[in-house]
Amino acid sequence: MGNRRFTADAVVTCDADDSVFAPGVVDTVNGRIAWVGPADSAPVVDDTVPVEDIGGLLMPGLVNAHCHTPMTLMRGSGDGLPLHRWLTEAMWPREGRMTREDAWWGMTLGSAEMLLAGVTTSCEMYLFEEEVVDAVRESGARLVMTPGVVSALHSSGSDRAAEISDFFSRYHDPSGRVTVGIAPHSAYDLGVAAVVEFAELARSLDTVLHVHLAETREESTELEDAYGHSITRILHDHGVFDGRVLAAHCVWVDAADMELLAANGVAVAHCPVSNMKLGSGIAPLAAMREAGVTVGYGTDGPASNDSLDLWEEVKVAALLAKVHALDSTVISATESLAMATRYSAAAVGLDDTGFLAPGNALDMIRIDLEQSTFVPMTDTDELLAHLAWSGSSREVTDVWVAGDKVVAGGEVLSIDTERAIAEVRQRALRLARG
Ligand SMILES: [Zn+2]
Repeated sequence: MGNRRFTADAVVTCDADDSVFAPGVVDTVNGRIAWVGPADSAPVVDDTVPVEDIGGLLMPGLVNAHCHTPMTLMRGSGDGLPLHRWLTEAMWPREGRMTREDAWWGMTLGSAEMLLAGVTTSCEMYLFEEEVVDAVRESGARLVMTPGVVSALHSSGSDRAAEISDFFSRYHDPSGRVTVGIAPHSAYDLGVAAVVEFAELARSLDTVLHVHLAETREESTELEDAYGHSITRILHDHGVFDGRVLAAHCVWVDAADMELLAANGVAVAHCPVSNMKLGSGIAPLAAMREAGVTVGYGTDGPASNDSLDLWEEVKVAALLAKVHALDSTVISATESLAMATRYSAAAVGLDDTGFLAPGNALDMIRIDLEQSTFVPMTDTDELLAHLAWSGSSREVTDVWVAGDKVVAGGEVLSIDTERAIAEVRQRALRLARG
C-alpha cells in the first residue's frame, strides 16, 4: 500500500492533547499514520498520492478492553440472574457443550458487530483461543487474545501454562494485528496460588495478565476473611501486580485499593453496562481516575451487556459517574471518548493504536456528520459533546484497521454477516437444548 491522504471536515485525534482539527488531514504510509493535522498546514504531496476527500469526521477506532465475544452464542440466556447463578445455571452448561466451530462462528458474528460499531480492537478473555484468533484474522480486526484459565477445566496439575506458552510463541506479534496475554479467570474461581502462577508466567513472557477483580461484593468474601485483607491487597501482597496487569471491573475497591492499583500501574477495564445489568455495583470511576489509575472501557461478554457496541459505555460510564458523584463535571465528553480509545489501548498493552498520531497504526473510523444527532454545531466542543452523548455507532460509515478498509458504507467487507447470523442462531439452539 502506498501513500494516501484523507481529508475530512473534522479529525478528532484522541491524543494526549485531545487535538481536534477541523478541517483536518490524515496522511498514511503502509498502514501507518505519517502525518495528522489541520488541513491548512498539511505538507505538500506530489500528484501521485491519492487524496480521498471523504468529508465527515475521522477518529481512532474504539478499543474494547474486556470482552468474551464468542458469548454471542449465549446472548439473552440467563437473563435477569445475578452473577453466580447466571454463570452456573446459564453460561457454564452451554459453554461446556460448545465446539471449536461454535466458538469460531460466535467470534465471527461478534467481530462483524464490533467493526460495524467502529470498534477496531478487542481484548478477549476466552477459551478456544486458536479459533478466536483465526476468526479475528479473517475479519480484519485487531485482537489482544488472552487465553482463559478456569477451575472447571484447568485443575491444578493441568498443562494449561504450557499450552498458553506455546500459543504465545506462535501468535504474539506486536508488529501485526494479534498480541497475546494470559487470563486466569479470578482469584475466587482459581485460588490465589494459581493466579500467582499465571502472573509469573505473564511476567516471564513480558505480557499482560488479564484477570477479573472485585466485580461483586460477595465473590471474594472467603479469601478476604482468610487473609484479613481486600482481594486487591491480597493479589498485591502476592506479587501479582509486579508485572503488567489488566483488571476487569474493580467495582468493590476502596481508597487504599485504588492507591495500590495506581502505584503498581494496574490498568482497569471498566464495564458499567455489564455491572448494572448483573446488579454488581457502581465502580468508582472518578475516584480511580483521581487516584491515577489508567481506566479503559469494556463491554464484557455479549451475554451480560448484551451489546458489543462500546459507544454505549462512552455514554453510560460518564452518566453513571456523574450521578454517583452528584456532580456533572466529573467526566467530560472528551475524557469519556479518551477512555474508549487511548486509555483502553494503553490498558490492553497497545501503544500504537487508540489515537491518531504519526507512527501509529491506521486504525480509524469515519462518522457521518450529516445526521440530525450532530446538529447544531457552533463550535468544536459541541462536536465532542455530540460524539459522546447523541452520536453513536449508527453514524459509523467506514472503518480501517492497519490501513485496510474493513467496513465501507456501513457494510463489513470481510465477513459474510448473514451466514454468521444463521450459524449462530442455529448453534445457539443446540447449546440451549443440552
Ligand atoms: Zn468478564
